[in-house]
Amino acid sequence: MPSMSRRDVIATAGLAAALGLNSRLGLIGPALAQKTPDPVPGFAKYKIGEAEVTALYDGIWEKPHDPAFIKNASVEETKAALAKAGLTTDFMSIPLTTNVISVRGTLVLCDSGSGGQWQPTAGRLMSNMKAAGIDPARIQTILISHFHPDHIFGLMEKGTNAPVFPNAEIVVAASEYKWWTEPGRVEKLPEPRKPLGARIQSVFPGWKNIRQVEGEVEVAPNIRIVSAPGHTPGHVAFHLASAGQQLMLSNDTAYVPALLAPHPEWQGAYDQDGPLAVESRRKLLDRVIAEKMAIAGAHFPFPGAGTFVKDGNAYLFTPTRG
Ligand SMILES: [Zn+2]
Repeated sequence: MPSMSRRDVIATAGLAAALGLNSRLGLIGPALAQKTPDPVPGFAKYKIGEAEVTALYDGIWEKPHDPAFIKNASVEETKAALAKAGLTTDFMSIPLTTNVISVRGTLVLCDSGSGGQWQPTAGRLMSNMKAAGIDPARIQTILISHFHPDHIFGLMEKGTNAPVFPNAEIVVAASEYKWWTEPGRVEKLPEPRKPLGARIQSVFPGWKNIRQVEGEVEVAPNIRIVSAPGHTPGHVAFHLASAGQQLMLSNDTAYVPALLAPHPEWQGAYDQDGPLAVESRRKLLDRVIAEKMAIAGAHFPFPGAGTFVKDGNAYLFTPTRG
């Protein structure tokens, strides 16, 4: 391992703490050399009925293996699942893709990416959005699946927390908003999550363009909220239906399908309520299969989409080739 100066170690630990990460991830420094090539181009467009979906690559977290990553599986078991899916076993590949949906004259951004404030190997969303010919100032609606850094930090400028999309309406599940902004919440969070909770509480209540919604309502033309709690208390998916075709944006319900398609019962370290996350995962995937929908996921291989079929009590995932 390349040597790190004491100053680098301190800086890295500070960064990890700022991002709400466990300081054991102080390996960020030497891991800066990214091993996975970026997709070229970093965007992909496809149609769902009359809607156009543009998948935008934000980056990747090449996460060092950690026995805590899956609560009820060993590192050896997760490596075997990665190998079976044709992925490297050197690290856990966690790519990040967000989507812009153009539907009936409305431009909808689904999650905001990391804003370059999550992993040093992510933060390409805005440049890929411009490369795809989308002007961020024209986005009217932003749907947020949950309040983890890789999904909301793209809303806030680094350092100042100034809104990146001041003119868009930001739609969030009331249950997620209320949980994170509840008085006393920050004190109750586990230590690595306290900076995230404090940032949310210092920023979101001051923004006038956040709309909280209850239940599985339509939030943009042809797009409805789908409740999928467990990963976080108010985690939601987004369902797009247009001209007889359907896409389920599953967000983090099945986040790394190489692991969770063959093992839907595995509980991720970031699944706040493991058993509820498993229940929501099975319910959502069963619906996607029964209704023959396409499915997208924030951490699926780029372009972040694919298909699921039943495989006994588990699932088989086939990624869409970028
Ligand atoms: Zn995520």
